[in-house]
Amino acid sequence: MAVSRMKLKKLEGHLQSVEVFDNPKILLEQYPTTPHIASVMLHEIQTKFNDIDGCTVLDLGCGCGVLSIGSVMLGATYVLGIDVDEEALEVCQKNLDDFDILNVDLLQQDIVNISPKDVKCASENIFSKKFDTVIMNPPFGTKKNAGIDMEFVKAGLMMSTNAVYSLHKSSTREHLRKKAKDWGVSIEILGQFKFEIADTFKCHKQKVVCIDVDFVRFGNK
Ligand code: SAH
Repeated sequence: MAVSRMKLKKLEGHLQSVEVFDNPKILLEQYPTTPHIASVMLHEIQTKFNDIDGCTVLDLGCGCGVLSIGSVMLGATYVLGIDVDEEALEVCQKNLDDFDILNVDLLQQDIVNISPKDVKCASENIFSKKFDTVIMNPPFGTKKNAGIDMEFVKAGLMMSTNAVYSLHKSSTREHLRKKAKDWGVSIEILGQFKFEIADTFKCHKQKVVCIDVDFVRFGNK
């Protein structure tokens, strides 16, 4: 069977071996995408939109690399993973080595610094329109950095030609729709997941809360 047609369960099984953050940094919202969610996302992106096999992929806020690695398994020709955190990138590189993956490069960069003021300014930097597809699980934006997920989407739209696939708190769905309209891009909610995150508002208690998260496609065309 062609790698690109790898079955969902098989992909999920492979992604179980991806190591996650040693010491997750709450302020950077380091919540790894579970193998189940990652495989469902990637499988849908490939089977419904054909946006991975034979494509170049950008993974913004790549963390330990589960979305980059899964993209390669589904036939991406090249992946660039960008993250601000050096320690996350070290874990990611180790994962790539363990999987013998050579066509993924990693770059340490703060996405907020390369996000354009306006998504229509396609010539803002050297990454403009350099990738077919962007796949990401961005920080959702806590009290401290509200709106950071939209900075990631803007950066993704500027750097890709096809589409940006992303995860966002379902409670922000109407805001996302409004932004997509303002930017002149299409938006489609592809599904919904339950996500466990640390409750950062209860500073001194290590509480975990379950939130609804939308799986969203922003179309550039
Ligand atoms: N994509 C990974 C990690 C998701 S967690 C996965 O799916 O498992 C969000 C990631 O965004 C973390 O790795 C965090 O370090 C990174 N991040 C947070 N703020 C960032 C910023 N301003 N620029 C780049 N990366 C950032």
